[in-house]
Amino acid sequence: RVVDLKDPSLLVSQAYVAGAWIDAPDGRTIPVTDPFDGALICDVPDLGPEMARRAIDKAHEVQKDWARRTAKERSAILRRWYDLIVENADDLALILTTEQGKPLAEAKAEVISNAAYIEWFAEEAKRIDGDVIPGTSPSQRIVVLKQPVGVCAAITPWNFPNGMITRKVGPALAAGCTMVLKPAAQTPLSALALAVLAERAGVPKGAFSVVTGEARPIGEEFCRNPKVAKITFTGSTGVGRWLMKEAADGIKRLSLELGGNAPFIVFDDADLDAAVEGAMASKFRNAGQTCVCANRIYVQAGVAEAFAEKLAARAKGLKLGRGTEAGVTMGPLIDERAVAKMEEHVRDVLDKGGQLLVGGRRSDLGGTFFEPTVMTGVTQGMKVTKEETFAPLAPIITFTDEAEVIAMANDSEFGLASYFYARDMARVWRVAEALESGMVGVNTPALANEMAPFGGVKQSGLGREGSKYGIEGFLEIKYINIAGL
Ligand code: ADP
Repeated sequence: RVVDLKDPSLLVSQAYVAGAWIDAPDGRTIPVTDPFDGALICDVPDLGPEMARRAIDKAHEVQKDWARRTAKERSAILRRWYDLIVENADDLALILTTEQGKPLAEAKAEVISNAAYIEWFAEEAKRIDGDVIPGTSPSQRIVVLKQPVGVCAAITPWNFPNGMITRKVGPALAAGCTMVLKPAAQTPLSALALAVLAERAGVPKGAFSVVTGEARPIGEEFCRNPKVAKITFTGSTGVGRWLMKEAADGIKRLSLELGGNAPFIVFDDADLDAAVEGAMASKFRNAGQTCVCANRIYVQAGVAEAFAEKLAARAKGLKLGRGTEAGVTMGPLIDERAVAKMEEHVRDVLDKGGQLLVGGRRSDLGGTFFEPTVMTGVTQGMKVTKEETFAPLAPIITFTDEAEVIAMANDSEFGLASYFYARDMARVWRVAEALESGMVGVNTPALANEMAPFGGVKQSGLGREGSKYGIEGFLEIKYINIAGL
């Protein structure tokens, strides 16, 4: 199914465990399908906890050696990995689109912009500085070292099958940690292709494993195995909560990037066309399947009607289809469960008196395609204001004043991203500081890049990925009190 790869060796259907490419010992497999039409791409091994354990044992065995290498050496290997990803970006994008469905241009942008995390952390590896602090007496000095936490385990989702991996494995390896990864069952091929390139770049055998298989038994092994020091997870809040409980006995370090319910606010002094463009990108990228997608669009009364009309016109212009086809700007949803959630939220708005401006139904393309949807007359309290839709539904809620919209925006258990469009500088500061989220986009829908700390507050997670802060989650602080000087 994945034809036209320049380098066909990037498409692998074996797992990469402890430096070896393997099948499941009992021959069990999981099918990987193309969400465009549900056709089989290939099968990958369905590994159980014993293979996760093997990967962890090896990661533990090689970690000290990896950490003992100079930062410059680790950095050079990571840099080679980055270069190989960029060189093979077309192939990686094609594999990604085939297993996930997003348009090829989006897939390529995902590959390139997230490879940048490896480039960034290759550089940061050399800047893991400590401190020397004056002691409590003239004969003492306090020395602060940063050391790798040890073996890390990562669990990643299907919505960014490539990018969620590089932004975790990059800083882990840079810090001197080793990593065992379980990719999402729907999208293991991007992870395996990255492992091929990591091996080629010189990442030592066992320092990075990819264990494919059923989530829960592998997740349990990650949480219970005493050799795992840290778990880093991107996915739903429910699974994050479960992992946190499971990892509690071992007091494991945790980084969690969980669900969101991003408010997107348009004030009446905003550049309306820019706000419409921003809403399009924020809402419909990846067919609405990102944790930072606008979920609730609040528009000030004076501009609400104009905004809704412009957004509906733009949404109508999206071209649905197979991600590899030229001109396609929106792919299918990942599965039927995703369509069901979309339908539930649309129905809830209609039942409670809202209106449909555009979309609201499955596409004629069939499968899991759903039309981009814009709804008005939405009010606070409808399901879409409480839960993450994770689908192409743009619900417009009209508001009158700033205090009211801040209260509505903050009325959520989530706090990942928020966005607002305004020109008044005093308002920009006021609103940015008042919004309860880890990230705020002001006059822009773009938040994720390797130089910025990505992450949430409240039930959206713990820790940050990217930036100088992103490596901290993979480091422990050790303090040495040197006396008798
Ligand atoms: P989604 O509902 O969007 O698929 P999930 O949180 O279920 O989000 O999935 C994110 C990642 O978590 C995937 O790799 C999935 O396989 C994994 N996962 C799901 N359930 C568990 C579990 N009980 N233990 C460990 N990992 C899990």
